[in-house]
Amino acid sequence: MNSSSLQDKEIRCSINSSALKNLSERDKKHLWHPLTQHKLNPEMLPIVKAKGAVLYDEDGNQYIDGIASWYTAMYGHCNPVISDAITKQMKELDFVMFSGFTHRPAIELSEQLIAILPDNQEKIFFNDNGSTAIEAGIKMALQYYYNQGDKRDTLIAFEDGFHGDTFGAMSASGLSSYNGPFEDFLLKVERIPVPKDDTIDEVIQQLESILKNNSCAAFVFEPLVQGAAGMKFHSANGLDRLIEKCRQYDVLTIADEIMTSFGKTGKDFACDYLENKPDIICLSKALTAGMFPLSITSCSLEVYNAFLSDEVSKGFFHAHTFSAHPIGCAAALAGIALLNSPEILERRNYIEKAHQDFAAEIKNHNSVQEVRCMGVILAVDLKVQTDRYGALRDKLYKYFMEQGVNLRPLGNTVYTLPPYVITDEQLEKVYNSIKSILEII
Ligand SMILES: *Cc1c(COP(=O)(O)O)cnc(C)c1O
Repeated sequence: MNSSSLQDKEIRCSINSSALKNLSERDKKHLWHPLTQHKLNPEMLPIVKAKGAVLYDEDGNQYIDGIASWYTAMYGHCNPVISDAITKQMKELDFVMFSGFTHRPAIELSEQLIAILPDNQEKIFFNDNGSTAIEAGIKMALQYYYNQGDKRDTLIAFEDGFHGDTFGAMSASGLSSYNGPFEDFLLKVERIPVPKDDTIDEVIQQLESILKNNSCAAFVFEPLVQGAAGMKFHSANGLDRLIEKCRQYDVLTIADEIMTSFGKTGKDFACDYLENKPDIICLSKALTAGMFPLSITSCSLEVYNAFLSDEVSKGFFHAHTFSAHPIGCAAALAGIALLNSPEILERRNYIEKAHQDFAAEIKNHNSVQEVRCMGVILAVDLKVQTDRYGALRDKLYKYFMEQGVNLRPLGNTVYTLPPYVITDEQLEKVYNSIKSILEII
């Protein structure tokens, strides 16, 4: 090989590697993204940095994260309090299996969670994501009865609920537009509509007839707000009475607070609005402030006690390798310390008030069918028809991104659930981008 062809080769290599510097091109080579039809939507936007409420792409463009990256990063991206806590934990105890061993971060987190969860919650079981928290909750409920010689086979869930993508969670989810290939393999579920203030009695009757005619183990629900359904709200009083009815029939209740927890509805947990407390509660997402995948399934002593026995097999034989990961626990502890700190409370109150003002401002607009808010959640239903993943939704998403705002419409619903640390100006920008689409649809 002469020297000039060697040089050629070097030049070709360097061209290749600079072409490969483009992350979105490299992404296409080996990656398979969730919730994506790659043939129709091949482009992914590379994000290289995040700080507070802002995401930065490869070219230096900025996007306000109007939905806190699926409602996780509530204290802001790269929050130094949380990243310091994680770093410190990593250097002390990175990981140890949680069967046969225990550790301070998990113990402290259980204490802190029990202190803020509804009074009837006594035990914390660790998982590693939202779906597996639900999965564990469903299995707990089924085995709770099984251990007492009572085999039950039916779950109750709301229409349009979303609980995750593993089989149990997928079964409970009514929002199953894409469950087709799996439908024959799902658990048995009876569905009821969510209670509205004027339909409570009807829904109670429907529930009662399901409870009478089936062998029900648990009622699984998102309390007060159905996130993936489009931030749909229902009646707290109605939900309270549904829980009461389940209790009358000795059926366990499982609250999926994966989205609603840690202040989003205005209280620490959506269940704090209820008189009747669920037997089992699932938490994830903001639990670790978006910094680490972790989830928990908490339960009452009554549920836990049904697994105590001299027979080994009555224990809960369910585990994930990364259960109670110390780094996730450290992130969660730092997050809980922030949740009701004066700085974060001030922001939570500010956002809540600003949402209400904005809702009042746009509610009579021609393009607005309904606008609703609760805590830091603001949702606007547009007067248009669109599929959940339809063309208009894609168009709106693109339009928001072009304006430097990350909002992901769900069907005809545009919503924001911003990180608590969003600044007044950034929030104003989110509102302005929503206002501007009202003019173009
Ligand atoms: C996100 C979510 C889940 C699923 O959690 P994953 O971590 O994505 O598995 C379940 N329920 C609700 C209400 C959620 O918002």
